[in-house]
Formats: sequence, C-alpha cells, structure tokens
Amino acid sequence: MTLSPSDTRYDSMRCNRCGRSGLKLPAISLGLWHNFSGMDAFENARAIVHRAFDLGITQFDLANNYGPPPGSAEETLGRIVRQDLTGYRDELVISTKAGYRMWPGPYGDWGSRKYLIASLDQSLRRMGLDYVDIFYHHRPDPETPLEETMTALDHVVRRGKALYVGISNYTPEQTRQAASILDALGTPCLIHQASYNMFNRWIEDGLLDVLEEEDIGCIVFSPLAQGLLTDRYLSGIPEDSRAAKPHGFLKPEDLTEERLTKVRKLNEIAQARGQTLAQMALAWNLRHPGMTSALVGASRVRQIEDNVAALEHLEWTAEELEAIEEILAG
Ligand code: NDP
Repeated sequence: MTLSPSDTRYDSMRCNRCGRSGLKLPAISLGLWHNFSGMDAFENARAIVHRAFDLGITQFDLANNYGPPPGSAEETLGRIVRQDLTGYRDELVISTKAGYRMWPGPYGDWGSRKYLIASLDQSLRRMGLDYVDIFYHHRPDPETPLEETMTALDHVVRRGKALYVGISNYTPEQTRQAASILDALGTPCLIHQASYNMFNRWIEDGLLDVLEEEDIGCIVFSPLAQGLLTDRYLSGIPEDSRAAKPHGFLKPEDLTEERLTKVRKLNEIAQARGQTLAQMALAWNLRHPGMTSALVGASRVRQIEDNVAALEHLEWTAEELEAIEEILAG
C-alpha cells in the first residue's frame, strides 16, 4: 500500500486560524498517545494516519514519551512519513512535547533548558525530521525559572528545529506569564494544549479568557474523555478498548455507574441531534469561538471517519445546551 492522497482532502475540513498567527489548523486533529506505539499493529496505525490525512486532518500530535515504550509513537509516525508522506511534509503540522520523565537522571524530566533541547533533538532523530511544526513544554515545572524554559523554546525556533512553540497544562496565570516572556523574546506563544471535555471543564475557569486576551490558540486533548464520551462503554468494557488495556490511561474504575448513567442520557441527546455521541461531544467542545482544534485519538479508521463527520453539524440550540448542562449537573 502506498499513499496517493485523495484529491478532495481539503474540500470539507474546517480550518481555524491559531491565535494571532498565520497558521491555520484543522478543527479536528489526531493525537498519537495511544494506539501508535511499538506494541500496536503498524498497519493499523498507518491506515489511521492515511485516512486522517485524506479527510483533511493535517495536524498530528506527539510527545517524546508516547508509547510504550516511550519514544515509539514518534518512531511510528517517522516511519509513516518516510514511507508514505515524504512528498507531503509541507502539508503536515507535526507537533511534539517534552516535560514528563523521559530518561533517567536529573536531565530527563520537567523544564530545564538542558532537558528540552536534548529532548527535541532526540524526537527529531526518532521521527527522521529536520524540524517539528510545534514544540510544546508539556507541563509547568515548579522549580525551573519560567524564563529558562521559555528561553529554551525560543532557542529551538531560532535554530530552525521548531517553527512555533506552545505550552500545555499551564494554569491561566502561568500562561499569562509564559506568553509575556515569549513575546519579549520575539517568539510568541502559538497555542495552549489543555484537557477539556464534558466531564472536565477546568479551562472554562479562567484559561479560555486568558487565551482570548493574549490571542493564543487553544487545542483541547481528550475531548472524548478517552472514549467515555462515545458509544464504546454503553454496554460494558469491550476487550479491545482502552479501558481494557493494561497500559491504557483510562481505568475500569473511571467508568463509574454515575458517569455511565450520564453518558447514556447524553447519548439520547446525540441521537436526537442525528449524531453519534462522539460527534456531539466534539461539536460541544468546538462551540467555543476561540477553540482552534479538538485533538482526538483513534484506535481504528472508522473512529476517525466518525469524528470528522462531527463537523457536518456544529450548530446548537439553547435547549440542547441546557439539557446537557442538566445531565452533567445531575
Ligand atoms: P480522546 O478523548 O479522543 O479518546 C480517544 C479514544 O476514544 C480512542 O482511542 C478510542 O478508544 C475512542 N474513540 C475515538 N473516537 C471514537 C469514536 N468515534 N467512537 C467510539 N470511540 C472512539 O483523546 P485521547 O485521550 O486519545 O487524547 C488525544 C490526544 O491528545 C493524544 O493522542 C495526545 O496527542 C493528546 N494528549 C495530550 C496530553 C497533554 O498533556 N498535553 C495528555 C493526553 C493526551 P479505544 O482505543 O478504546 O477504541
């Protein structure tokens, strides 16, 4: 199988400008946290990336530690790009991150200049790329001065190893400070990557306001609550699901009866809207005007097709939104 991308790949994907930058990003992006590791079937991973690209998904998100083993998801993407997408590098936005523990000792974790620069070099080698499009600091570091971390981000841009930089999991106040340092350095903060879904709404409590004020893009991860906000667990835990996998980050104990009751009620609203629950959950995330992209995962081609089709119905009535609030509050 070699890639000959569909000529219609840009016909229906909606693209949003990322903050005050020149970069436009697809409203749905694909993350390679799960299902793209050295332990997953390569041909399935390859098929998902191909289909995503055919559907207009140009952005593929990684981190140094995605696996297991850590680093193997970057190797998988590198292999796919080498085999199939070399001629399409300029149509791709590839992001990676550093901030969690990647190698032993004091230099393989958190936010020092020493760690970030070495980690990006390693990521580039694993992927076989000259540069990434976006390099993120993955989580705030309570000990390293923010100036040092931001200066390291500025450095990788000046060296041509990353085109843009972003931050992830920073609080509203940390985001404001990071943006101010980066502005002064002349490398603006492009984007913030934060968790967000119907069960996890912390960004509504200040972060979205800061991103709007600072004109920083917003990409939300785990918009489907790792699969909980889909039809995946409506009747038990399927053997091939994330919650059933020993290395999956969604644990069976996360699937409480209280949550599942809400999921079933939400599913009824989705059906009334003529959508799958996954599609409705994505449309709900994208209802914010400042939302640049929803960053989904997928274990099979069908899921990515289902998710992209969410873009066919992003409109909401006040009654639908109110009914969702009632279920979530219940
Ligand atoms: P999601 O909430 O989208 O969960 C993805 C999972 O949901 C899939 O693996 C699949 O589960 C299930 N799923 C997806 N689509 C459908 C569908 N249409 N129907 C039924 N089930 C579906 O996102 P992730 O938690 O995977 O996170 C997405 C990305 O966000 C990551 O890959 C990573 O790039 C990024 N991320 C960033 C973090 C950070 O700190 N910055 C932290 C975590 C993630 P199953 O495998 O069971 O089929």
